Amino acid sequence: MSKTSGKTGEKVVTLAAKPRQPCPICGRPAVKAHRPFCSARCADADLGNWVSGRYRIPTEEAPEDALESGIMEPDSHED
Ligand SMILES: [Zn+2]
Repeated sequence: MSKTSGKTGEKVVTLAAKPRQPCPICGRPAVKAHRPFCSARCADADLGNWVSGRYRIPTEEAPEDALESGIMEPDSHED
C-alpha cells in the first residue's frame, strides 16, 4: 500500500515568487531599493539600532565585567 495519490505536482513551492516581506522596523511592505526595509530611513534606523546595540562605544568606562569574572586580576599585590 504505497501512497499513490493521483495528485502530482500539488506542492508548489514558491521559491522565486516570494511574498513581500514587511519592513522589520515599521512593518510596512519593503521596497526593492531599500530591502528589506521600506525606506532609507528605516534602513538607517536599523543600522543605528545595530550599532548602538552591539558596539559599545569604548569611552564610557572600563569593562568591569572582566574584573568581576576574576580571571584576569589587574594588580594583585601579594606581598
Ligand atoms: Zn519601514
